[in-house]
Amino acid sequence: MTTQTHEFQAEVKKLLDLMIHSLYSNKDVFLRELISNASDALDRRRFEGLTDAGLQDEAEPTVRLLADSEARTLVIEDNGIGMTREELVENLGTIARSGTLEYLKKVEQGEAGPPELIGQFGVGFYACFMVADRVEVVSQKAGSDQAACWKTDGSGTYTLEDAERDGPGTTITLHLVDVDGDEGISDYTDEWVLRSIVKRYSDFVAHPIRLTVTKKEDDESPAQAVDVEEPLNSMKAIWTRPTSEVTEEEFGEFYTHITHDHNAPSLHVSTSLEGTFEARALLYIPSVAPFDLYHREMAHRGIQLYVRRVFIMDECRDLMPDYLRFVKGVVDAEDLSLNVSREMLQQSKPIQVIRKHLVKKTLEELGRLMSQDEEKYLSFWAQFGPVLKEGLLGFEEKKDRILDLVYAHSTDEGDGLTSLAAYVDRMKDDQEAIYYMAGPSREVLSGSPHLEAFRAKGVEVLLFTDPVDDVWLEQMPPEYKGKPFRSVGLGEIDLSDETEKEEQEAERKQKEDDFGGLLGGLRAAVQDDVKEVRLSSRLTTSASCLVRDEGDLSPQIEAMLKQAGQEVPERKPILEVNAEHPVVKRLQAIFESNGTDPRIADSAGLLYAQAVLSEGGQLADPRAFNEKVAQLLEKSLG
Ligand code: ADP
Repeated sequence: MTTQTHEFQAEVKKLLDLMIHSLYSNKDVFLRELISNASDALDRRRFEGLTDAGLQDEAEPTVRLLADSEARTLVIEDNGIGMTREELVENLGTIARSGTLEYLKKVEQGEAGPPELIGQFGVGFYACFMVADRVEVVSQKAGSDQAACWKTDGSGTYTLEDAERDGPGTTITLHLVDVDGDEGISDYTDEWVLRSIVKRYSDFVAHPIRLTVTKKEDDESPAQAVDVEEPLNSMKAIWTRPTSEVTEEEFGEFYTHITHDHNAPSLHVSTSLEGTFEARALLYIPSVAPFDLYHREMAHRGIQLYVRRVFIMDECRDLMPDYLRFVKGVVDAEDLSLNVSREMLQQSKPIQVIRKHLVKKTLEELGRLMSQDEEKYLSFWAQFGPVLKEGLLGFEEKKDRILDLVYAHSTDEGDGLTSLAAYVDRMKDDQEAIYYMAGPSREVLSGSPHLEAFRAKGVEVLLFTDPVDDVWLEQMPPEYKGKPFRSVGLGEIDLSDETEKEEQEAERKQKEDDFGGLLGGLRAAVQDDVKEVRLSSRLTTSASCLVRDEGDLSPQIEAMLKQAGQEVPERKPILEVNAEHPVVKRLQAIFESNGTDPRIADSAGLLYAQAVLSEGGQLADPRAFNEKVAQLLEKSLG
């Protein structure tokens, strides 16, 4: 048959144009696309050979690269399924893939993203026009003995003619464009360039990729083709092997390979998703937090996305929520359609399904670690606990499964930690809430006067010390196992039982009457700083403490909002004083004999200052405080 000339389908022409004039900086991906097509063709031949022995090949299924720096050609060759003449037209002369069509429409309407995004995803065969100006494809379908040659210079037409081939398979010859002066394009006949591209994108392709380089002719020897003996790719996609066949050492090596972290990971998790969307994943939890963990935008996301063993992208943010950003690993999707923009990826159903599965699996495995090896879990918690708790801020999360993993200090645990679950188990039957305090450190919190009544009653209080705790506990307090969280520094606290309550109520009424005058005097002295002075039901040993009204912001949140430049409404705490304390009793006596005794105002200032200091706060005027204390000292020393 003679040569026939054909016009490209209109869309193909547009795509070619886009590729040729692409500003896309990473042109290397063309090789990934061609290798991935070749690998698919090898798979198909092997698969069809299972039922039709005539299609099998004696030779090893291989992708060959032949680079000739003299002729400036790069050949990509496979002994896969091949294409008939009709298939060449159908596959290379028309565009059937809907994603590509959609993308082209967007380009036409000026809505498509920057060209940078194109190459992240499957651009397919046409990507080769980023680096070549002429392309020939010679292909022979397995089971047929006729080959055909498809050729184009990308200008709008292609030709088809009969051709010769040694056997079934496909040979693609790229006539490379000049590298001079074009940034982002490499010399694709150079062994090291090809090696590094294959390593980056196609290392886990399951068939060997072999390279033959034709060295330039020099004075002594003629041009010579040299086979690079080892395949360029490792083919070690360890996530495709049964976990039982992979050694711990191999898991560790692979972790270092993808993360460049030389600390052994604390956990690896293999999982696969079956059903409508198939995917495999190998996830790791590092043992040491990276330095940029809290720079949310900068932080590296650990999940690499592969599609059928071919590398697509690093840091696929859509596969893990922010609060699991420390998880590293790979996800290999079987049937992700490679649409052409990141935006599409985000909304893609399979990605969402995979993400859900990964989150579930990760939390489950952490739960397993917690119950099987608490010590190891606690070292994970020390590194990543605060990040995990960010998950409690989200609306979409099932919070219980995160709360199951939460540890905190507690008044019963010394400097150790307790899990929330264990705390709830220890709660007495009539304890209505999970009591907690949040603040800068365990030392400060455990010295807080707010805890006195709880200690006296033997009620355990959780002590939360990460900045994020304030936010989830106060802004969107969840329930856990049916119990609400309740801050011990908020509002009125009453730990008494019913009969006690009645007695105390009467007693308190009486006391309020008795102390009413003194409280008024104290309030007058510190009214710039507090909105009320009242008798406390939570103090047993300290003289005073500050409490917030229900609904008031915590000091930590207030500080955070101020730092973020937000207006924070003026809020004053309540000063509580302990009627049983000798200082307060003495003040009452003084007040009874002279309601305007100046010692009352002085003491009010000191009681307030003590309350501020005991919760780790700072005094507005430390000098005045010091002077007063010095005066007192002087007096007491006579
Ligand atoms: P995609 O691979 O995403 O389908 P391409 O534009 O890369 O899109 O390729 C179009 C089609 O051409 C492929 O689906 C495949 O059927 C065929 N094809 C491409 N390369 C080869 C090859 N090396 N061997 C056999 N068929 C191929």
